[in-house]
Amino acid sequence: MKLQSIEIQGFKSFKDKIKLQFNKPICAIVGPNGSGKSNISDAIRWVLGEQSVKSLRGSKMEDVIFSGTNKYKPLNFAQVSLNFDNIEKWIPVEYSEVNITRRVFRTGESEYYINKKPCRLKDIREIFMDTGIGKEGYSIIGQGRIDEILSSKSEDRRFIFEEASGISKYKYKKEESLKK
Ligand code: ATP
Ligand code: MG
Repeated sequence: MKLQSIEIQGFKSFKDKIKLQFNKPICAIVGPNGSGKSNISDAIRWVLGEQSVKSLRGSKMEDVIFSGTNKYKPLNFAQVSLNFDNIEKWIPVEYSEVNITRRVFRTGESEYYINKKPCRLKDIREIFMDTGIGKEGYSIIGQGRIDEILSSKSEDRRFIFEEASGISKYKYKKEESLKK
């Protein structure tokens, strides 16, 4: 499974629609301070369902929408899509390509889509569970996270190992069935 490309429109500093294509196994994003590198990793976590505005470096969810400059007006919505190749079916859906999209308007709620079909955040969480890709997964390691992992409580470290070893899905299913 590979993240093939990401499309960003109206998210943080990305006013116009851009598409980043990751054609090589290892890609680096470089640029001056404040040019938007971290905004790209925020965008990835956001599509995967990040709900914590603090971890997205804002004070309210609206802060992820392009807020305008002295030349450009603020936009009314932000949208980010991730395109994964799923030939090996790591993501448990029948498609060999999976597109995940999240859109938010200034007026409120987020909309989520899997391959252009509307879905719930829960559906996105579930299909990425145990792939290591979820917003809590270990595939996105932000600045300072390594220190956090090494020094955090043993229960927090255990969570990371549970996700990596593929048992968090079963824990989740058990919790869900106990709710019923
Ligand atoms: P560094 O190298 O310092 O880590 P960076 O490339 O990671 O920099 P980011 O933190 O991704 O930079 O980008 C910060 C920029 O994004 C700031 O200029 C900030 O004004 C802009 N920005 C953040 N949110 C918005 C928004 N909602 N609308 C417009 N611009 C925004
Ligand atoms: Mg940065």
